[in-house]
Amino acid sequence: MSGIYNRRMQDLVRNLLAALGEDPDREGLANTPKRVEKALKFLTSGYDADIDLVLNNALFSVDYSEMVIVKDIDFYSLCEHHLLPFFGKCHVAYLPSNKVIGLSKIPRLVDVFSRRLQVQERLTSQIAETIKEKIAPLGVAVVVEATHLCMSMRGVEKQNSFAVTSSMLGTFRSDARTRMEFLELIKLRSASAMRSSAGANLVCIDE
Ligand SMILES: [Zn+2]
Repeated sequence: MSGIYNRRMQDLVRNLLAALGEDPDREGLANTPKRVEKALKFLTSGYDADIDLVLNNALFSVDYSEMVIVKDIDFYSLCEHHLLPFFGKCHVAYLPSNKVIGLSKIPRLVDVFSRRLQVQERLTSQIAETIKEKIAPLGVAVVVEATHLCMSMRGVEKQNSFAVTSSMLGTFRSDARTRMEFLELIKLRSASAMRSSAGANLVCIDE
């Protein structure tokens, strides 16, 4: 990252520190605005990412029709309601029709959508929809398991601070056996927490 920082964002962070009752000029906080800006720019760098560039040279035509699975992809994102982290594991599977994505590109795709202000449900469906759009597979499945600091740190419904969301498209939606094979292979920490991605904004309580 270049040494040129947005003066305006640093001023905003200084004001925020003052509004919190802090002295932005004390030694420990002197460089905090610069660090916060750098951190936030990195954590939201997914907005600037070009999906086609990320997937460049990694879409291959194949004669292969078995399930492709990449599981336990670590991700870190920011909840758009509180600007606090939610993080965990993402599991991705698809059934190719005639194209596959280089395996190393799947975690990159997860990074692109997690390095934004997000809600877990939208993160889940954006990953699935992008794979569907780029390689037109027979089906795509994405499961995201995450801990939400906006819930656990604030003591809001602690039992729900760990949430599981899923997006099942194509054969993963229409064929229970395909779906079960995938779920069996990823062995969810909390299978009972499984629910559809239909109900938006349930993961992080908007308060
Ligand atoms: Zn939140």
